[in-house]
Amino acid sequence: MTTPRVLRTPDEVRWFVNDLRRRGQTLALVPTMGFLHDGHLSLMREGRARCDVVAATIFVNPTQFGPTEDLTRYPRDPVGDLAKCGSAGATVVYSPEPATVYPPGYQTYVNVEQVSQGLCGDRRPGHFRGVATVVTKLLALFRPNVALFGEKDYQQLQVIKTLARDLELGVEIVGMPTIRESDGLAMSSRNTYLSADDRARALSLSKGLFAMQAAAKAGETDVAKLLALGLAPLTQANVKLDYLEVRDAQTLEPLTTLTKERSARVLVAAFLGTTRLIDNLALTVS
Ligand code: AMP
Repeated sequence: MTTPRVLRTPDEVRWFVNDLRRRGQTLALVPTMGFLHDGHLSLMREGRARCDVVAATIFVNPTQFGPTEDLTRYPRDPVGDLAKCGSAGATVVYSPEPATVYPPGYQTYVNVEQVSQGLCGDRRPGHFRGVATVVTKLLALFRPNVALFGEKDYQQLQVIKTLARDLELGVEIVGMPTIRESDGLAMSSRNTYLSADDRARALSLSKGLFAMQAAAKAGETDVAKLLALGLAPLTQANVKLDYLEVRDAQTLEPLTTLTKERSARVLVAAFLGTTRLIDNLALTVS
């Protein structure tokens, strides 16, 4: 394993990308906020399978955090992250300072309309504007052939697919399955905040989603009944629910009935103490 080269400025990225293009190599981009786990690494491995070179980015993007959110205490592990990126096949890691990405006088933002509304869009005002802005900047800078994102952040994935299509960025956006701990909890950098008790109660999120998925598979199409099933473990674990909703898997429009024609997704957000976790699953009627 070779340690990836760390790039700090847009000029360094442009030199790297121009050199790679001169050699006729293809590029996969994996944007992250660091404190990497197997979910992040699965994106890099898939990037390596699809392209000659993988670039990862590690940037805790201030514009996607609300004023009362965890920006300043977001977990970081630059040294460990670099080794993990190398082991997953990344050649370079772009890790700029916030002032490099948003220098004084910065005033350009990307706003994706419909799919940014509802769910996390309503609960975290400005969040998807921040995400869409930083991802657009990274895609414009790296001009990758492919960029990989996790289904774990399902609404974010739809926002990014939409902006890449609407802005004609010419990049393939690949959504990758959620990687889970062996007991079902979706991996997240924020899991590190959880106390032992919160960690145990956090299992209720995936438990509820899997119960809904099983019921849909067994033929239940009534969304109200499915939601009651999903809610039961959350209530039992006494977590503070932010939302639990069933939506069209592409447009994210609310659904009241599942059909074979329209793919559906259940999405959940809940607080364990002060830690907000999200998860989601596909609902397929058999
Ligand atoms: P983050 O560092 O949390 O911003 O995540 C960076 C990328 O990794 C995003 O595309 C996430 O959707 C993805 N990701 C985060 N957690 C997981 C997971 N458990 N499984 C797969 N991908 C994930």
